[in-house]
Amino acid sequence: MPRERPIVIVGAGLAGPLLALLLARRGMPVTLLERRAAPDGKHSADGRSINLALSARGIRPLERAGVFDDVKPLLMPMRGRRVHPLSAASMLHSYGQRPEEINFAVGRTALNRVLLAAAERAGVILRFEQRCLGLEPDSPALHCMDERSGRHFLLDCETVLAADGAGSAVRASLVAAGASRVRVTPLDHDYKELNLPALGGAHALEPDALHIWPRGGFMLIALPNPDGTFTLTLFLPRTGAPSFAALTGAQALETFFATQFPDLEPYRAELIHSFRHHRQGRLGTVRVRGWHLRGRALLLGDAAHTIVPFHGQGMNAAFEDCAVLDTLIERGGSWPDIYAAFERLRRPSAAAIAHMALENYEEMRAGVQSADFQRRRDLAFALERRFPERFIPRYSMVMFHPELSYREARRRGAIQAAIIGRLDRERGAGGGIDFDLAERLLQARLPALIERDPDAGTG
Ligand SMILES: Cc1cc2nc3c(=O)[nH]c(=O)nc-3n(C[C@H](O)[C@H](O)[C@H](O)COP(=O)(O)OP(=O)(O)OC[C@H]3O[C@@H](n4cnc5c(N)ncnc54)[C@H](O)[C@@H]3O)c2cc1C
Repeated sequence: MPRERPIVIVGAGLAGPLLALLLARRGMPVTLLERRAAPDGKHSADGRSINLALSARGIRPLERAGVFDDVKPLLMPMRGRRVHPLSAASMLHSYGQRPEEINFAVGRTALNRVLLAAAERAGVILRFEQRCLGLEPDSPALHCMDERSGRHFLLDCETVLAADGAGSAVRASLVAAGASRVRVTPLDHDYKELNLPALGGAHALEPDALHIWPRGGFMLIALPNPDGTFTLTLFLPRTGAPSFAALTGAQALETFFATQFPDLEPYRAELIHSFRHHRQGRLGTVRVRGWHLRGRALLLGDAAHTIVPFHGQGMNAAFEDCAVLDTLIERGGSWPDIYAAFERLRRPSAAAIAHMALENYEEMRAGVQSADFQRRRDLAFALERRFPERFIPRYSMVMFHPELSYREARRRGAIQAAIIGRLDRERGAGGGIDFDLAERLLQARLPALIERDPDAGTG
């Protein structure tokens, strides 16, 4: 009997292991290929962002794969953003107005290990230190290289699912075959991760919040870790003043941290130490048209849509991709049909979240401190309380309402922003909201919320 050819998933980052698990649970033979060595638990999975924000959109697919119970112990709940202005008291902006409307910080390495372990238990074959070099032009095989020996080999496969991230090698093959077109838009701001140590074993800052130090042209954020530390990320222009290029000498660093983050004074030495030793990461948006090649290969996750991290949605979107693909496979059909349906469903939403993520940078580094922003945010919450069947703030739609697609969240968000703007301008003398006008505007312009958006992630 000829051996069944496996489905090969390239990339054991975040989407790869989850997708492998979902397909293995369907009884499919799955091989997961990863260029890195197997995680040893000591280092960050790939040297990038050490912790991430997980929201409802990412949790659903984990539940679908039956692995959320294993992930739960890794999660640090964050109920809002603690904003630290330069010269005023800090304030907490809750993410939503219901107790369940929270996000969770989770360590990338720990999450990766849990997903890999679950995939392996489900029968997935894990192959580390095996780099995919691209698709073989005319055969259903992958061209690979063993990272230890440098040996090249061909891996026979039924089809290839490319979860190999922003610099996807499979995507390069699709481009070479004329199936994909790629547009890369680099951000002119880079990032660097810094460590905030625990204080006598406890968190130095309120642990159940994401902290932001908005500074107009740049910002620092902090996400809590279960061991009492925080991972901070400094987002800063590459050149100009201030910028990474300008922060070279010891004095420049000392002055920068002293003037911009005086409340972090006790930790300044540690922050400067990690600034000096951590790498400067690049950010950008990768938009791809043509996510598949005649049933032979499909791109998903960052390989199909890399976005900037300011809405905390890259991983969540990648997980949602896995659930959508799993649903399409469950419905049946040929690989070319499934892949075409996947791109049809997901590309508009990928475009929407790419756009909203860029907008959120402006909001986080500048908007959150303005009185205007806070007034409109309160107004949006008031509308949600009064008209729950019609109005949900855009941030909440993106983070807490996976039954709405990103595309729908962006579409409704634009209509809502115009309504909020008008209601804000036409407040009564005492600043009250004209709810009759609100009702008329919402009825006229915003469709009632539907039970299930046909474009939404299924799972
Ligand atoms: C600073 C920063 C902060 C972020 N914060 C958040 C957040 O808070 N919330 C959120 O949802 N998202 C966040 N993201 C985005 C998130 O990290 C990505 O969207 C997510 O990792 C995408 O998952 P993926 O599986 O598609 O790709 P990856 O996680 O990048 O995995 C790709 C894997 O493929 C492997 N690989 C690559 N090339 C090959 C090859 N040729 N052969 C074999 N293996 C290969 C890589 O080693 C890697 O393991 C952040 C990103 C950054 C940069």
